[in-house]
Amino acid sequence: MRFATLIALLALLSGCATRPSDAEIDKLAAAANQARKTGICNIHHVPMQKELVHVEYAHLPVEYFSSDYEYARLQSFPHAREYALSLNPADDGKKTRVFVCPQCKKALRDWLAKHPNDKWGKLMGPKRSNQALERTADRRANLLSMTSALNFEAELAIVSGRSALSR
Ligand SMILES: [Zn+2]
Repeated sequence: MRFATLIALLALLSGCATRPSDAEIDKLAAAANQARKTGICNIHHVPMQKELVHVEYAHLPVEYFSSDYEYARLQSFPHAREYALSLNPADDGKKTRVFVCPQCKKALRDWLAKHPNDKWGKLMGPKRSNQALERTADRRANLLSMTSALNFEAELAIVSGRSALSR
């Protein structure tokens, strides 16, 4: 009986393994934001490189924030992107410098190799194909009402401010 309970618990736990709690997501997002100031990757604890990248205007639909890709990104490769997102349309096409972690890039490549058909992996991979997010923008929901979306906005704030862009 006790053994059966244990099995049931383990099944429950493993089922939840890829879905971190809201508190955990908050923590990961805050750590990722902090890493953008220190230049040390919060997952791999190695120095990151500043790269000059394109800024793309994008509103992400709410479903993105509960996608496997977004969870994997926060947990394994928060600094793999070689582009920046902004909520301000005026930023589109500008350039900014962002920290990129070599080990996050590798983790992202590995994840994409294991999930070749993941919708968000395809859209949001290391170098985004241009058309993708403008289409999904039509379906945008009220991001401000979502807790995890707010985290993302905080991440975005780094690149959406004019001061960040002119640096
Ligand atoms: Zn990293």
